[in-house]
Parts: sequence; structure tokens; C-alpha cells
Amino acid sequence: MHILVINCGSSSLKYQLISMKHETVLAKGLAERIGINDSLLTHSPKGKDKVVVRKDMKDHIEAIQIVLDALVDKEHGVIEDMSQIKAVGHRVVHGGEDFAGSVCINDDVIEALKNNATLAPLHNPANIMGIMACRQIMPDVPMAGTFDTAFHQTMPRESYLYALPYSYYTDYKVRRYGFHGTSHKYVSQRVAELMEKPYDAIKTVTCHLGNGSSITAVDRGRSVDTSMGMTPLEGVPMGTRSGDIDPSIIEFMEREAGMTAQEVLNDLNRKSGVLGISGISSDFRDLADAAETGNERAKLALDIFCYRIRKYIGAYAAAMNGVDCIVFTAGIGENAASVRAAIVSKLSWLGIELDEEKNNTRGREARISTPDSKVQVWVVPTNEELMIARDTLTCITKD
Ligand code: ADP
Repeated sequence: MHILVINCGSSSLKYQLISMKHETVLAKGLAERIGINDSLLTHSPKGKDKVVVRKDMKDHIEAIQIVLDALVDKEHGVIEDMSQIKAVGHRVVHGGEDFAGSVCINDDVIEALKNNATLAPLHNPANIMGIMACRQIMPDVPMAGTFDTAFHQTMPRESYLYALPYSYYTDYKVRRYGFHGTSHKYVSQRVAELMEKPYDAIKTVTCHLGNGSSITAVDRGRSVDTSMGMTPLEGVPMGTRSGDIDPSIIEFMEREAGMTAQEVLNDLNRKSGVLGISGISSDFRDLADAAETGNERAKLALDIFCYRIRKYIGAYAAAMNGVDCIVFTAGIGENAASVRAAIVSKLSWLGIELDEEKNNTRGREARISTPDSKVQVWVVPTNEELMIARDTLTCITKD
């Protein structure tokens, strides 16, 4: 049984073909510059060399066709024919309040996705395009949607409601939704397995630290709070996003600097975070290099990032009345040992003791706290595609 996982952006399409028997990735790749000139597909089949196919893709339908051609190609293909693809799992950014789990895609689901598009105007329309393209090319293959927001639908009202006029929520759906849910769910489940504890018996704080970063409190298998909000702008500082700020800053900059609200928001999304503070880069490798050679603002950016994450971990330990485990994942969480060390360095009050030698690891599952540490600290590489494939399998076998 093979499942094709698709993550569609406005001009790109990432895919993985996963064999569910042993949960192995048969091929993965990326179609870029869809609808623009010089489109290309980078296709990596298991056990064979990576290939780059340069071919115009005027829309997502053509892109999916080229992906399917690559998967069945005589030389760099991995399957005999398309009928071996039993289902397609789509990543969808925003499920609003309609979806608390993955679902089989039908007309009603597509309608609900369109209705939620105002909540994620940059992402949902692209996700819908991918779904429609697959429907056209593979009309008989069942499809499921997995939502970045779904895992967080278990949050209680005191976590997801902002202290705003209640009508903002009832009339406009203004509330915390949270994102990266597939990743938080995967690593929190996986760490319970690694700790050999039942998922519904432990309290975990999951730190997804990548280009976008979010922290989640997972209380016995349920997300009870998360740092991203109505949009991914809220929470900890990120590569280029500010994270939490005083909203009055927007009006202040309109008045004092003659900027429009849209311009300030653009800065908050694209020119803030560690890029904004350092003035150097949003990439943590560049920042670490610069900090090492004495660049004060790079060091300050790293200090602010780690400090703000530490505050969230403390807050979530309080929110759950305790914590058994902290998990680091995504590009920074999996790779940056110095960032992990700086974050947990002042959490000894929680009973956390880091094993510096074990923390000196990259990109693999590892327990990085000492055996005596009261709270375990783990690195767990995320695997959103596998989570989507598993959910897709569950959806199609249920129906
Ligand atoms: P995305 O949110 O786009 O999926 P990733 O999870 O791939 O992002 O994370 C990307 C970030 O991970 C990069 O911006 C970079 O800062 C960081 N990163 C990747 N490798 C390393 C490394 N070896 N050391 C420090 N940071 C790293």
C-alpha cells in the first residue's frame, strides 16, 4: 500500500511517496516555479541518484502530472504504474473550527476549506489547488486532508480565546488556532514511545524550532495551549517574524514613522525576529558563526530567541501543573545544540539537568538530559509527511 503525500504552495509542490508496510519513503521531491518560467522538478528516488527535470509547469495540474511521470519513469521511477498509489494525503494549513482531525476529502470538505480560506489567505487557496489538481488527474484515488490546526482543536476556551470583545470571536472567528499541529502531534507521540510511557499519561512541552517556531503544551495526549495564534505571527520570535508584541506598536509606527498598518505588518512578518535584531540573517547557522566572531547583535538575537522560548516552557509547565518531558524538533531544534543548551540552562528549577555530551548530537532521536534529570529532554526529528500518510490510511480504511 503506497500513499502519496502532497504539500502544495502557491508556486511549489513537495511530495513523498510512502510505502506503508514498513513506513519507508520510496521517493520524495519538489516541483518549483509552477506557473512561472523555468519550472523544475527535483526528484529523489530511494536508492537511486537524484534527478532534476526541467519542464514547464503552467499550473498545479501539470506539476502533479510531472510528479506522477517521475514516479513511474523507467529509469528513476519507483513504481510500475499509478494504480499502486492507493491514496493521496494533502497537507492543509487551516482547518478553522471545522476540523479537529484528518478527513476524507469530498465536496463538503472542499467547500469548508474554501470558507476557511479567509483565515489563511496565503496558504489555503494553494492547498485547494493541489486537491483539485489531484482530483482531475486521479479521480478514482481517495484523498484525505491533514490540517496544521487540527491537533490544537482540543485547547480549552481559556487558552484559545483572546481577551477581546466576545463578538470578535462569535462574528469573525477571531481566536487562537495554532499551527505546526502535525509536527507537535508526531513528536509528542513519538517521545512517549521513546520514554516507554502511555501517551495519555505524560505532560510534554514540544518546541518546533524552524523558520517558523512554535511551542505547545501537550497534556496527556491533548494540545492544551500553543504559542502561535490566529496566525503564525504570534508566539516566540522566529527567523523573520516578531512573535508576541504590544499591538499598539502598529498604531504608534503609523503615527510616528508615517507607515501604513500594512507596512508595519509586513515588517513584523518579514523583517523582524532574529533577522530584525541581528541585521544579518534569519538562518541560525549564520547567526552562530557571526556570534562566534564577536558580533554583538547576532549574539543578542540568539539570547532573545532562547530567553523567550524559556519563558514559554515555564508558562506551559505552569499551565499543565507540571511537565515530564521537553522535546526539541525541526531545523533548529534538531541541529543547534548550543540553542538547546541555552534554552534549558536556566530551567534547573524545574529539575532539568542537561547532559552536555549527549546534547552534542544532530538530526537524530536522542535523550539529552542526564539520567537523574526530573524532567526528560529529548531531540526528536519531526516527520509530518509520515503523520499525514498514517492519518490518510486511517481515513480511507475507516470509510
Ligand atoms: P521550515 O520551517 O522551513 O520547515 P526547518 O525546520 O527546515 O524550516 O528549519 C530551518 C532552519 O533550521 C534554518 O533557518 C536554520 O536556521 C536552522 N538550521 C538548519 N540546520 C542547522 C544547523 N546545523 N545548525 C543550526 N541551525 C540550523
